[in-house]
Amino acid sequence: MASLAAPRNPTREVRAGPVRIGGGSPVSVQSMCATRTRDVDATARQAEQLRAAGADLVRVAVDNKRDAQALAAIRERTDVALVVDLQEHYRLAESVAPHVDKLRYNPGHLHHHERKRSIRDKVAWLAEVAATNDCALRVGVNCGSVAPEYDEKFPEDSVGAMVACALDHCALLDDLGFASYVVSLKDSDPGKVIDANLRFAEQRPDVPLHLGVTEAGLLPMGEIKTRIAFEQLISRGVGDTIRVSLTLPNDRKHEEVSVGRAILEDIRAGRFRSVPPLAGLNIISCPSCSRVENDAFVELAEKVRELTRYAAEHDVTIAVMGCRVNGPGETDDADLGLWCGPRTVNLKRGTERLGAFGYDEVLDRLRQELDRIIAVP
Ligand code: SF4
Repeated sequence: MASLAAPRNPTREVRAGPVRIGGGSPVSVQSMCATRTRDVDATARQAEQLRAAGADLVRVAVDNKRDAQALAAIRERTDVALVVDLQEHYRLAESVAPHVDKLRYNPGHLHHHERKRSIRDKVAWLAEVAATNDCALRVGVNCGSVAPEYDEKFPEDSVGAMVACALDHCALLDDLGFASYVVSLKDSDPGKVIDANLRFAEQRPDVPLHLGVTEAGLLPMGEIKTRIAFEQLISRGVGDTIRVSLTLPNDRKHEEVSVGRAILEDIRAGRFRSVPPLAGLNIISCPSCSRVENDAFVELAEKVRELTRYAAEHDVTIAVMGCRVNGPGETDDADLGLWCGPRTVNLKRGTERLGAFGYDEVLDRLRQELDRIIAVP
């Protein structure tokens, strides 16, 4: 683990299996499997690859009962600390918690099921499941899926919405007497990640923070965006565990870990890179996970980058996402958004959905739309 010379925020210690987060522990490095969780062989193999590359914690997503059932077998095949991402299915917590060390829930996804049950009740149930199984929790707030009431309350301040949501969930967990939690506030814009984490840390310097720039995208920009955020936060003592989210083919997923460790080492040694301004064409893409609906996703993201190079000087954001679950929401802030289905790619311009196109057709249509956008003076 890296050790940082910079003074750290006095966060309390949270334990996730053998890993200690906060409380002065070295900043830990996480990554996430992009395999289908129900594929025990592939997921256990990737978890081990990530561990061998230096990951302290490895996250897997569970979307359904088959994924949840696979957890017991995956647990048997790797010693790395495991984290489950509950996505929309918080009810799966009970079946996976005995096999993992930490559960991540997204406050913005809690309203999807059991609409009549209060958020407080749901969080109380999650805290109870976590406590019974000696698991930590992560309150994972994400720009693309903030709970609707916060979006309504902060229509012009997406960072304010994220911070308020995180603070409310901390208050809920504190009230429930559950202290073993960390918080993350992620956005695809490194500036917003910095702002959100500084605002949160000012009010709750005791809560350990998991840092990440979501959908940072392809190398090298994915690393640069993440570096910007981590340099600004960790050098101020903010951040206890990190994940670098890169769009990489499955056999190179471990590079998320080596990039994360390199950034930490550079910050520790005082090597700050000059940061290029993020003006111009900005391509964001998700790091992929078990939900990716077509293996052509990474290739699609790369083709989008190649195709759009001619527009490098224009301030346009293009988002490329791997699935239909998070794709529509996570592309909301982009000028052009693409998200994968099994056989087609969905395309939208701003909030207007333009339709679903074959993988071999979508790039032509994307180019037409991009030309229209940059033609506007
Ligand atoms: S957009 Fe979909 S495929 Fe990509 S990381 Fe998010 S959930 Fe996974």
